[in-house]
Amino acid sequence: MGLPEKPYTKEEVVKKLEEYAKLDADPHSGKLFTIAFESGSEDQRKLSHQAFNMFMDKNFLDFTEFRGPVKMEKEVIDIAKSLMNADEEAVGTFTFGGTESVFLAVKAARDKFFIKKGFQIPEIVMPVTGHPCYDKAAEYMGLNLIRVPINEETLEGDPEAIRAAITENTAMIVGSVPNWPFGTLDPIEEFAKIAEENDIWLHVDACVGGFILPLLRQLGEPIPVFDFTIPGVSSISMDPHKFAYTSIGASIILFRKGFSKMLSQYANLRWPGYPIVNPGVLSTRSAGPIAATWASLHHLGEEGYLELARRLLNARNMITDGLNKMGFNIMGRPRSPIVAFSSEEVNLFTLSDALLKKGWHVNPQRGIAHLNIPRSIHLTVTPIHDQLAGQFLKDLEETKAEVEKIPPSEIEGMARGFGMIMGMTAGEMDYEAIRQIMGKVEENLELYGPELLKAFGMEEELPQEMAMLNELFDSIPPEIMELLVNYVVIEIFRKGL
Ligand SMILES: *Cc1c(COP(=O)(O)O)cnc(C)c1O
Repeated sequence: MGLPEKPYTKEEVVKKLEEYAKLDADPHSGKLFTIAFESGSEDQRKLSHQAFNMFMDKNFLDFTEFRGPVKMEKEVIDIAKSLMNADEEAVGTFTFGGTESVFLAVKAARDKFFIKKGFQIPEIVMPVTGHPCYDKAAEYMGLNLIRVPINEETLEGDPEAIRAAITENTAMIVGSVPNWPFGTLDPIEEFAKIAEENDIWLHVDACVGGFILPLLRQLGEPIPVFDFTIPGVSSISMDPHKFAYTSIGASIILFRKGFSKMLSQYANLRWPGYPIVNPGVLSTRSAGPIAATWASLHHLGEEGYLELARRLLNARNMITDGLNKMGFNIMGRPRSPIVAFSSEEVNLFTLSDALLKKGWHVNPQRGIAHLNIPRSIHLTVTPIHDQLAGQFLKDLEETKAEVEKIPPSEIEGMARGFGMIMGMTAGEMDYEAIRQIMGKVEENLELYGPELLKAFGMEEELPQEMAMLNELFDSIPPEIMELLVNYVVIEIFRKGL
């Protein structure tokens, strides 16, 4: 299919776009408890769109030609610095997402390590609950990443486990406030002591927490200090596209020192074209997101953000109480906007599918048996849930009662069996095993690929129920499952499923 021979009229284009939009979950409905950070304020959203539109055609690649976004970036970074108690010397970069911010921090930490120690393979040490973007950065930039166990009771990072994993090749320690799966807070002060003693870069992942935890603290919540007031903290990432409720494609990386930012940037004068200095990973980039971020931060202001934080807190407390009353086990102490729960009574994967039938989107999460982490359901609570928590809890209670009546499914047994046949348990895979498997994958993909899609029920469309897939995620070693999902996702995009 090439370009349409007869151009679509404007009306035809819009009609078609509306059809596509209907396929999406509605991010403003309040029925999503994952990756939709909804303030519930239409006024704020409209302003953010307006700002985005005004600047979306400005190419922030060339900041000598497009001057406005530089001013906006400075003001946005200043706000972030103030939230994180940074001093004058601290600098920051606006990026298009948390992953990009983390890439810049990892690049700077790696190059600092090279300067100090020469070229050895540097290592990142972080709690097992750390975000996959660190593995991704490590893989892209040639570092090793070591995930260490967390405190089994509190589900917070364990300083002793971090200390035990430090070697002379450790270039970076990561702590999260909060981590994504459970919303628990790593003890940054203790991580910082270890970092300082060993002269190691400490990155604080406040991608979720940066724009909400300082406000929750202001409202009297017990939020420990995790920012630049702690001397060992080298960099902090925080995402406006999360709890600053701005348009998607907005994150910030802050460095304590100007030189660190220099290590994170990229300059190139070796070609016959224009000189390149890229503060971020992308080169050509729209100034829309920085304008939308500037607009949201200034329009809501401290007053607006505090009011939203109050609503969010109210919703989170209602939900936590409700979950407790229903007999679910809350994972750790809820101190952030994220609440996760486990259950010995119901299959959470089936529960998640059943909730979706009632319109609620939650995140089922696989456990890690050898670390005593049970499977769970993750909820990101946002201010809009203030109005919807009651309805959600009612639906959850009904759904739980329904799911309790369903006997354990064949699927569960099948998935476990499949995992056993593969003859491996988590932790047994090494690079050599993966290398051998990868060699075979290329040979066998054409042969078995279509069979695999059939087994997943994905020949024509995405499966309506995810429980089967989630059971597989939970029972097959992650290294194998990563290969399978990588293949499946190619097919999803190729076919437009
Ligand atoms: C969201 C998030 C990130 C980065 O994710 P992006 O999707 O790239 O914005 C990193 N760490 C944590 C803890 C996060 O929640």
